[in-house]
Amino acid sequence: MATPHIALFPCSGTGILIPFLRLAATIAARGCTVTVITLHPTVSASESEQISTFFALHPHIKRLEFQPLPFKKSNFSNKDPFFMQVEAISNSVHLLDPFLAALSPPLSAIISDLSVVSSICRFASNKSISIYVLVTTSARFFSLVVLLPKLALHKSVGIQENGHLELPGLGLVPVSSIAPPLYDSNHFLSALLDSNIPCLSRVKAIFVNSFAELESETIKALNSGRLIADLAPVLALGPFQSFEVEKTPNLPWLDEQAPESVLFVSFGSRTALPRNQILELRNGLEKSGYKFLWVLKTNKVDKDDKEEVQQVLGESFLERTKKRGMVIKGWVKQDQILAHPAIGGFISHCGWNSVTEAARLGVPILAWPQNGDQKLNAEVIEKAGIGLWADWGWLGEVLVSGDDIAKKISEMMVDTKFRVRAKEVKEKVRQAREIGGDLDVLLRGLMDEFSVGAKTRCGSNPKNLEDDRKFERI
Ligand code: UDP
Repeated sequence: MATPHIALFPCSGTGILIPFLRLAATIAARGCTVTVITLHPTVSASESEQISTFFALHPHIKRLEFQPLPFKKSNFSNKDPFFMQVEAISNSVHLLDPFLAALSPPLSAIISDLSVVSSICRFASNKSISIYVLVTTSARFFSLVVLLPKLALHKSVGIQENGHLELPGLGLVPVSSIAPPLYDSNHFLSALLDSNIPCLSRVKAIFVNSFAELESETIKALNSGRLIADLAPVLALGPFQSFEVEKTPNLPWLDEQAPESVLFVSFGSRTALPRNQILELRNGLEKSGYKFLWVLKTNKVDKDDKEEVQQVLGESFLERTKKRGMVIKGWVKQDQILAHPAIGGFISHCGWNSVTEAARLGVPILAWPQNGDQKLNAEVIEKAGIGLWADWGWLGEVLVSGDDIAKKISEMMVDTKFRVRAKEVKEKVRQAREIGGDLDVLLRGLMDEFSVGAKTRCGSNPKNLEDDRKFERI
């Protein structure tokens, strides 16, 4: 049987790149030839570090470096450096065509980021290349996103009198949980979704980094056709595992702490709290009395994040908390920290990778969503019983006091039900990953499907992409 050759195309941002690299490592380990398309230059230093580490560890995976055209003045409101690069990529994807067409062995499938899938569909339209999409957010947020082109939120279409939006089969979402750029027809993000969502009926399958224990109802609803008819089958392939060997982080202070006694605090790769909020968080951590390991960010793009911890938090705080707290500025291996036995809780902005990492590793979450998909991700945490949601508005909207933060920390750390449930979820994940477990079976089915695609690619005429979908809806 021909070996399938699969290309993966992640867009900007570490939170997008990491799940693509994890999926790439998974399918390569199961026998596919894999090419990862990487961006040059990357917006953040952490993206280039992840890329270097990945290819050093997986020399058998090929790399196709792609340099998008420079960003030109946008027709939309788009000031975020990561979104600006996505816009530049959207305007240059056609440049990739000859490179993709020249890959050897010939490509049998592309796994695309949602933000470029319409261009990828155009490239593959007259070739026997199957297209898949990897969705890097929760199934819950994705179920909102697929509805967006049908709604006109800026004109309140679909919004009920009580300020909610109905997700058919999935209940109501408060409009206050939907990030403002999604309402704004002039924002690049809504335009991007409008142009790409219609292609989701033309791809072979949609992968989500999620799993039944977190989102079974939503995954079923997406596959039922109730949200939108004709959506390609949604396969829950998560939670993804690290592409590195999982080992203990090199943090002697953490090794000395009692089991489950330390709160890990991190807001992901691209969220910096405003300065006054950082200081309140500092006060809250101190008042809570818990031990903490805090990854401090003061700038959205890590290359610009140059201030020292002392400058930001003050010497006296660091002196007072030196035995029970540790603050790190810079990149840490978050999943290794979450796996450490001393970690007993996680204050998270609810980036979806962070949520799935904590769920996989059995760590309860204090959810403090800040933007984007994060409030809907926080709903998932609450519903799955693995944590507590502090609904404190969007980033910078209100100043949350140290007292309020300390109270919520205690609530989450004291309540054993979150810890018990988080451990249950961890165990379910372990079972699903075993040979013959749900995830293993799903991945085997996917590999068979890739192989069939590779055979078609080698031996038959181009045909319509929709014709040969094999996946069962679940
Ligand atoms: N991450 C990490 N070390 C850091 C900051 C982030 O390993 O110092 C990883 C984290 O484990 C996750 C990803 O970066 O895999 C961030 O993705 P997420 O979806 O949680 O949030 P985003 O950064 O996209 O907001």
